[in-house]
Amino acid sequence: MPDLPSFRDLPSVSALLGAAETAPLIELFGLRAATEALRAVLEEARAAIRRGDSNPPSTDKLVASASRLLALKDRSSLRPAFNLTGIVLHTNLGRAVLAQAAIEAATAAMRDAVALEFDLATGKRGERDDHVRDLLCELTGAEDATIVNNNAAAVLLCLNTLADGREAIVSRGELIEIGGAFRMPDIMARAGAVMIEVGTTNRTHPKDYRAALNERTGVMLKVHTSNYRIQGFTAEVDAKELAAIAREASVPLLHDLGSGTLIDLSHYGLKKEPTVRETVADGAGLVTFSGDKLLGGPQAGFIVGHKAWLTEINRNPMKRALRVDKIRLAAIEATLKLYRDPDRLVERLPTARWLARAHADIAAQAARMLQVLAGVLGGSYVVELTDCDSQVGSGALPLDTMPSAGLIVRAQGGAALDRLAAALRALPRPVIGRIVDNGLLLDLRCLDDEAEFVATLSALHLPRAS
Ligand SMILES: *Cc1c(COP(=O)(O)O)cnc(C)c1O
Repeated sequence: MPDLPSFRDLPSVSALLGAAETAPLIELFGLRAATEALRAVLEEARAAIRRGDSNPPSTDKLVASASRLLALKDRSSLRPAFNLTGIVLHTNLGRAVLAQAAIEAATAAMRDAVALEFDLATGKRGERDDHVRDLLCELTGAEDATIVNNNAAAVLLCLNTLADGREAIVSRGELIEIGGAFRMPDIMARAGAVMIEVGTTNRTHPKDYRAALNERTGVMLKVHTSNYRIQGFTAEVDAKELAAIAREASVPLLHDLGSGTLIDLSHYGLKKEPTVRETVADGAGLVTFSGDKLLGGPQAGFIVGHKAWLTEINRNPMKRALRVDKIRLAAIEATLKLYRDPDRLVERLPTARWLARAHADIAAQAARMLQVLAGVLGGSYVVELTDCDSQVGSGALPLDTMPSAGLIVRAQGGAALDRLAAALRALPRPVIGRIVDNGLLLDLRCLDDEAEFVATLSALHLPRAS
């Protein structure tokens, strides 16, 4: 009877740890992690023997398996990806990609001590808002400004400051819900404000707001309906008129702009949205907007407006809980500075570059990538050039699309497409597209680094159909 392989044919953990092949693993990942990985592959080898596998793996093979396991575990799930979804500001992919200037500023702030709350002129305590307050006022025309963690925090802080235990008046047509469980009624409740809804879903008139005003009113609210449009028989009170009503009643008007842009988007062929400067000029006492949507910076929330309201906001203890750190502050300052020279934004700010990118340019890139992808995928997939529509994302301009181009991959059956999408996501630098019309679409609008893309694809490992 031939000898069956037994556990005794496998090396011990200590033998594996002493093997020459293991030294680089210990060097790279440390003794403890290497030991755990070797234990795991030995356990797997024993299981294989129990299943009746006839060839116990060699030391070489065991160490190679451990090495793969360690590399996989060490890989960050936050590693850079290719966003080929056609959604420029994809919330689940981290929204805006930062400008080089912002990356450098953030890196410098990480590396060294900075005068975050320290006045270099006097040697006394300074304020963290000082670094960007003037810049924000310059770019928006507002009297005063502050920064918090994100726009949700900005809205929460404004409401809590102005309407804790008081009433907040808002149109029924503007009670938004945006992704990530931001619902206006819930935020109001958490801010301590009593929500007073006025008007109807499709129509709200000046008299509706006027009728709701009373001595308990803390704030009037206008909310940009970022991610939807109410169309047809509609009426809303525009920002200017609402500001006049608020002024008459000596009540602050808070205008939540959501995305908020500092430039006229029609320069990029998009629909014109009111800029922050225009919204401030319309008379809202407070305007809030995001840092990582159309602005193209890091996650942040800006509050700009009248000094009197901002002084109150800055006194609110909640402000301390919502503040931003030096790294982001440095990146915000560098990003905002780019807006001093709008003519060169497209060159310097990835968000602006991608929004402005011409269809012909993207189509030419798609033509260059066609053979590369077809070559990697082989015979069981068909790759074609296609026109498609990109979106801004993050709820900004939900109905406006930008003509784009890319590659569409078709396969026999949905399972094969799902396998392909999974293999692309498993790459060292994941490639993320979207499934449409029985195909996997890669919209190339946001593809900057073509050489890196080609190199990444060459590592694609397609499991065979089962
Ligand atoms: C996106 C958005 C917010 C939340 O902004 P974050 O920066 O994501 O916190 C709030 N209000 C409106 C209208 C928005 O579009």
